[in-house]
Amino acid sequence: MEFLRKLGIEGTNHGTSTGQESLGDGSQQMIESATPIDGSHIAEVSVTTREQYDQVVTTAQDAFNEWRETPAPKRGEIVRQIGLKLREHKEDLGKLVTYEMGKILQEGLGEVQEMIDICDFAVGQSRQLYGKTMQSERPQHRMYEQWHPLGPTGIITAFNFPVAVWSWNAMIAAVCGDVMIWKPSEKVPLCAVAVQNIVSEVLRENDLPEGIFNLVTGDKEVGEWMTNDERLPLISATGSIRMGKQVAQTVGARLGKTILELGGNNAIIVSENADLEMAARATVFGSVGTCGQRCTTTRRLIVQDTIFEDFKNRLVQLYKGVKIGNPLNDDTLVGPLVDGKAAESMQQALTEVQDSGGELVYGGELLEGNNLEVEGGHYVQPAIVVAKHDYPIVQEETFAPILYLIKYSDLDEAIAMHNSVRQGLSSAMFTLNLREAETFLSTRGSDCGIANINVGTSGAEIGGAFGGEKETGGGRESGSDAWKAYMRRQTNTINWGKEMPLAQGIEFDVD
Ligand code: NAD
Repeated sequence: MEFLRKLGIEGTNHGTSTGQESLGDGSQQMIESATPIDGSHIAEVSVTTREQYDQVVTTAQDAFNEWRETPAPKRGEIVRQIGLKLREHKEDLGKLVTYEMGKILQEGLGEVQEMIDICDFAVGQSRQLYGKTMQSERPQHRMYEQWHPLGPTGIITAFNFPVAVWSWNAMIAAVCGDVMIWKPSEKVPLCAVAVQNIVSEVLRENDLPEGIFNLVTGDKEVGEWMTNDERLPLISATGSIRMGKQVAQTVGARLGKTILELGGNNAIIVSENADLEMAARATVFGSVGTCGQRCTTTRRLIVQDTIFEDFKNRLVQLYKGVKIGNPLNDDTLVGPLVDGKAAESMQQALTEVQDSGGELVYGGELLEGNNLEVEGGHYVQPAIVVAKHDYPIVQEETFAPILYLIKYSDLDEAIAMHNSVRQGLSSAMFTLNLREAETFLSTRGSDCGIANINVGTSGAEIGGAFGGEKETGGGRESGSDAWKAYMRRQTNTINWGKEMPLAQGIEFDVD
């Protein structure tokens, strides 16, 4: 296929950036990448061995010595060039994201646009790695703080954002002076190989060491080499809460730093004072977009009792109009789930919620071979279920398009239900009432990292700090001052006088 060729993807590909694997002679373990669209084979990627991993870390350490001495605006210039190269490859890379992960083409292209946006942001950031100046209590002393790069940074990413999440981390960390070792999800290794090809080209064109951006491939075993590795002072990990708990414990045991971006269980509160048309449209995008496989997917809808029936019917009508099918087709809004396991866990969750007393009011069917133009993928009809907030399954993140409708009568009750889950990523309220909106955003309102008014839970912009609280892990990536997590802070005091006064006025005279 032409787009694969243009991205440098071959039948068998190096999954390790040092490129030392001998491919094709059977000596190297390979991952097969198949498309969720119809299950057909795309290409193979080699799995990094322990020896190759150690070589990558050594290469990264060497590159760090050069990169950290490169002025930050010059590092920004490299990121600017990566942004330009991504613009050239937007169509092809967006298509690969759709092909390998299964999200619709609009979202595949959107993901690459997000990479381009974060490059632009990081270029500006490269001239704004500000430290503060403090007033010293001692005469003729100057105090200030400065930020230094941390070192080789491990980036572990999830399958559902195969390229954008890497860029949120890597582009900011790059201008901060860190070098990166990326372990993508084993479900989408080709996207990572394509991105690696793009950045390597920019490094080569600028005579810079390739070890600034590194790639390793494999399952959780490779991830565990990274989390246990004292040579990596920071691990930024995106994925399930189960994974995050393991990463936090391993990295914490060696007192390393983590940025954790874990699962969500996001809700929208819809008040009787909302613009219901806007609320319904935002709900549908939030709940069925990416086939319910976004960390910010709307999973719970907490609707005021006075409008509950009307709003439920409105949603069912909109759901009926959602075209499910091949994600490469222009009119498709919902593509396949990533694999059979995801379809199974959706079916299990639907059984469980109905056993608890929930009422399935729409969807939930498996559509394999069922009036679709494609066969072989795991296509499902997004589901709407009337439920109670305290059903055990409603408290969990099921990574599939199930929307639980929950009734409330007053706002305090709605907020209590909203905050009753263990996750704390994204949240929203639809209302045109100022008091309700401000209550939702106040200290007794949403407990999430992201809280919106009249904007749904998914589709964040890169300019804000992205991340969530509680079991979502507390990490922040992307915009605002998230860059600080990729650097170490140093406080400096300089005495330019002829005396040696001590802080707090302590006298300590030595004759
Ligand atoms: P996953 O946890 O199965 O895997 C994520 C990554 O972690 C993979 O690269 C995997 O190989 C690696 N991994 C797994 N166990 C590990 C371990 N013990 N040590 C080191 N690495 C390990 O997640 P997934 O199924 O790929 O992605 C879906 C999940 O990711 C959902 O829960 C979703 O909400 C979450 N997610 C969160 C965000 C966010 O920003 N908060 C963004 C995207 C996805």
